[in-house]
Amino acid sequence: MSTSVRDLACQEIVELVTEYLEGTMDGGLRAAFEAHLAGCAACSRYLEQIEATIRIAGTVRADALSDELRAGLLEAFRGFAPGPGKEET
Ligand SMILES: [Zn+2]
Repeated sequence: MSTSVRDLACQEIVELVTEYLEGTMDGGLRAAFEAHLAGCAACSRYLEQIEATIRIAGTVRADALSDELRAGLLEAFRGFAPGPGKEET
């Protein structure tokens, strides 16, 4: 069991992306964040979208623009989340 890098849920990535981009995240959490990104295409894509939007907007104020992307990401997770609890209507 690793103590230096803990597992992050996709929900946490969404919550932490602003801190990550602003560089206010501490080293251990940053490592966990990047480890999650490396293994999660959805979160990688989410981060790319945020970064692209920030490039266009010229600001790192991701909190001001992430609500829509956040909603879209969570929507995507609902679509391909494996295992029990998958809703198919
Ligand atoms: Zn993820």
